[in-house]
Amino acid sequence: MKSMKSVKRLLLAFFSCAFLFLILLPQARSVSLIRISKDDVRVWGELQRLQIDVRQELETCFLALADRKERDALDASRIGFSVLDVDAAGKDYVLVPLIAPEAESELLARGQAVAVEPGTAVFWSTEGAPLEMLPPGFPRKPLSSASVLPYLRPPIEIEWAAPPAFLRDPLIAHIVGRLSEAELRFLVQSLQDFQTRYATTPGCDAAGDFIHAAFSSFGLDGVRFDPFTFSGGYESRNVIAEIRGRTYPDDILIICGHYDSISPAETRLTLAPGADDNASGAAVVIEAARILSAFPLDFTVRFIAFSAEEWGLYGSRDYAAQARAAGESIIGVINLDMVAYADVMPEDLEVFVNGPSEWLAERLLAAASQYADLAARKRVDASMIYSDHSPFWDYGYAALLAIEDSPLQNPYYHRTTDTIDKLNFDFFAGSARAALALLAELAQPLREGAPRTPVGLTAAPIVYRSLFSTMKSARLSWSAQSDAAGYNVYRTNVSHLSYTKINDSLVAGTSFLDQNIRTEIPYFYVVTAVGNTGIESNRSREAAVAGGGAASASRCQNLGFFDMMPGGK
Ligand SMILES: [Zn+2]
Repeated sequence: MKSMKSVKRLLLAFFSCAFLFLILLPQARSVSLIRISKDDVRVWGELQRLQIDVRQELETCFLALADRKERDALDASRIGFSVLDVDAAGKDYVLVPLIAPEAESELLARGQAVAVEPGTAVFWSTEGAPLEMLPPGFPRKPLSSASVLPYLRPPIEIEWAAPPAFLRDPLIAHIVGRLSEAELRFLVQSLQDFQTRYATTPGCDAAGDFIHAAFSSFGLDGVRFDPFTFSGGYESRNVIAEIRGRTYPDDILIICGHYDSISPAETRLTLAPGADDNASGAAVVIEAARILSAFPLDFTVRFIAFSAEEWGLYGSRDYAAQARAAGESIIGVINLDMVAYADVMPEDLEVFVNGPSEWLAERLLAAASQYADLAARKRVDASMIYSDHSPFWDYGYAALLAIEDSPLQNPYYHRTTDTIDKLNFDFFAGSARAALALLAELAQPLREGAPRTPVGLTAAPIVYRSLFSTMKSARLSWSAQSDAAGYNVYRTNVSHLSYTKINDSLVAGTSFLDQNIRTEIPYFYVVTAVGNTGIESNRSREAAVAGGGAASASRCQNLGFFDMMPGGK
């Protein structure tokens, strides 16, 4: 009897172990979707150190795919996270805004949904592709298909100096003065007249042809269709044109807006006028192309009308992935999506950016007040991911979204009533002028009588370490040019913003030493050439000297470097 009992016990123990093993094994292997909080500043360094597969940055957290080992490593580093979906293998996830109170129950009726922060949920389904299972009309952003880890940048503690008094540039004002309200009206009417531009319809194809023909009529370079497939086999096309930069052809600025449209399920195949959403943004892109085609520029400008945005940012996701794969140097992206409806006048333009793109918003605000008499509002919010700028963020490019209101106030949004008669052309033209002014400023039209824009600028840090302090200088050099009597050197701590001249007298040679700069923050330099009559050229491209940011400091701390340094703690 006794031995029988122990055998039973042994068997029971064996089966419990086997059972536990079977339960735990797949968990140990399986990849989970997790939410990692941004509360701890060490998170930036730890994600890099552990090489976590981050797929989305939001304002308060990251969403990542992590196996058991990686989750244990996060635990060991005391980085706070929660598991949103235990088994993420082979699943697709979509981010959606949680604005309306009924949104959550609508999502749960069609699949799984978890709120990841106020206003944002992640949605998935075990029954099909989540983009197709989503309730119709929901804004959407699929989780990136590749890790965004290489492009994450910790916030840098920089005091935002008030931008110096901004001088109105007559050449930029002249360019902006060419913007035609009648032209905008014609373009929106033409796009609306295709009846529907829902991405699977012939109407959308015809609208794409129309945009292609418009770009071609301006004599632009490289007018092309950029085809892609979406949602399991449909095809559509981005439409792209370019003005190749005379000085820096490989440095690119992009102005973009989607041209596809949507309306409720029962009408979208036949009627989706999409005047505000987003014939307005597409019209600004086309009008900017028309105007700038008459001006030679230092930097390359690309004009892009994206398609299948309403389906899940398909056109822009495809494009941004290609651009990154090709290693393209994209300085900044101006995305316009719904820029023509005013619920109350004066309407202000909302300008959404993530942290690394903040300079773009600052520049748009300045351009709006200087050239468009338009009030614009900067909103730093990495969770505003529901338009074509968002894939550019995923690949580490600076990008902004210009939009009339957020939350949206347009009552005709995604309806058959989103028509040209509802638009406010004063506000619309203001949005267009602001975007055009910023684009022209960044692309730098060549100036008659001015020396050529300097090229070949490099900046190398020189670090002197003593026992008690570290000193740093930057050695700048650039190419000599015959039409220059000398050069000016400008510096800033925020890329493309608030340059300050740092040379006392004109620099005669082609190098400059910027001495005793701070070690922990970045510096960005540009140079200009000054001709014999004193006329100054446009700015060179930027050269940067990196600072030791918060991330590298925390890495040092983890390695115990601070303990080894005299006076450290
Ligand atoms: Zn839109």
